[in-house]
Amino acid sequence: MNTTLQQFLSEEIQRLGAPYWRVLEGAQGARVCIDGQWKISLCSNNYLGLANHRALKEAAARALEHYGVGTAAARSLSGSTPVHEELESELAAFKGAEAALIFNSGFVTNTGTIPALVSKGDAVFSDEINHGSIVDGCRLSGADKRIYRHADLVHLEELLRDSAHYRKRMIVADAVFSMDGDLAPLPEMLALCERYDAFLMVDEAHATGVLGQNGRGAVEHFGLEGRVDIIMGTLGKALGSMGGYIVGSAELVSYLARTARSFLLTTSLPVPCVAAALAGLRLLRDDPGLRQRLWQNTRLYKSALEELGFDTMNSKTPIVPILIGDDGLAVRFSQRLYEEGLYATKIGTPYVPRGTARLRTIVHALLTEDDLHEAIGILERVGHELSII
Ligand SMILES: *Cc1c(COP(=O)(O)O)cnc(C)c1O
Repeated sequence: MNTTLQQFLSEEIQRLGAPYWRVLEGAQGARVCIDGQWKISLCSNNYLGLANHRALKEAAARALEHYGVGTAAARSLSGSTPVHEELESELAAFKGAEAALIFNSGFVTNTGTIPALVSKGDAVFSDEINHGSIVDGCRLSGADKRIYRHADLVHLEELLRDSAHYRKRMIVADAVFSMDGDLAPLPEMLALCERYDAFLMVDEAHATGVLGQNGRGAVEHFGLEGRVDIIMGTLGKALGSMGGYIVGSAELVSYLARTARSFLLTTSLPVPCVAAALAGLRLLRDDPGLRQRLWQNTRLYKSALEELGFDTMNSKTPIVPILIGDDGLAVRFSQRLYEEGLYATKIGTPYVPRGTARLRTIVHALLTEDDLHEAIGILERVGHELSII
């Protein structure tokens, strides 16, 4: 190996510490099997339990048999399939939009869409704790980045007031912030858009299937349907599969399909994946029971944690952080919980600011009341043991 590269790598590895993850020996579920032991899962985005749902597996198997595995190129080069087209039209209808475009992940949806919409001479206003894919999309765009303090409308307006000289202004934010579980103040942000001639892009990765009367997301939750120009989402969380999408006007979608590099220059999603997402979408659309269970579980779990004295920050969603503060203590907490039968990952730097290390627990619909009581009991015991509560 080139010695400069070798030296760089060994210094960096030293600094970063070992990469770290558990190896699951089966599907995502209420419990996951690790090293032959079943642990209660509190850290997946499998909100509605669709990742291993029979309907999704059957849809994927049928598509696999008919279409095979790979699509062999981008849709514009070697063709689309009726399944891709169907998912797009059902996604658009579900979200109350004219059209939808599927990307290969939520991440590349953001890194492809933002640079297609803003560039040098434009300004993009981005919440300081937005997801990394938004951060990267803003960087790639070449637009001037105006980072506002987390959910701080006064700061956002200050920056907007000073932006008349830009050609275009775009505000972009997570609808549900992935590390904190709180919500972006979308109605007020939309009012600012109108006042300062800006347009809004909302990332509903953690909102679709979770929020809103019909599970359509935060835009539905706030009663803003039809008013947000660009809505982004993922097929990999509540929808149980893999991929990402944009919904919006027919013109927006038609433009992105011709310009978004992360759409044009990559092999399109395998059809089994698309078919599974379509089955997931139909389930979440037609079976409100899944979402009801998710929220029952969330209410039970969150109120128990708060009663015990844990700091769950400003969470308004099934993402329930348990604030610890110190990185080392958060690592010990996570490790001891694991030994006691609970799988919940610690989130520290660089994901969140130093001094705000936390356990990010995520509630999902598959957990039974017994699972939840067991989890809460473990959290209480270990919380006392480590003097966190
Ligand atoms: C998970 C996530 C993404 C990325 O979605 P993937 O489909 O996992 O690539 C984008 N934005 C937010 C807010 C997310 O939480």
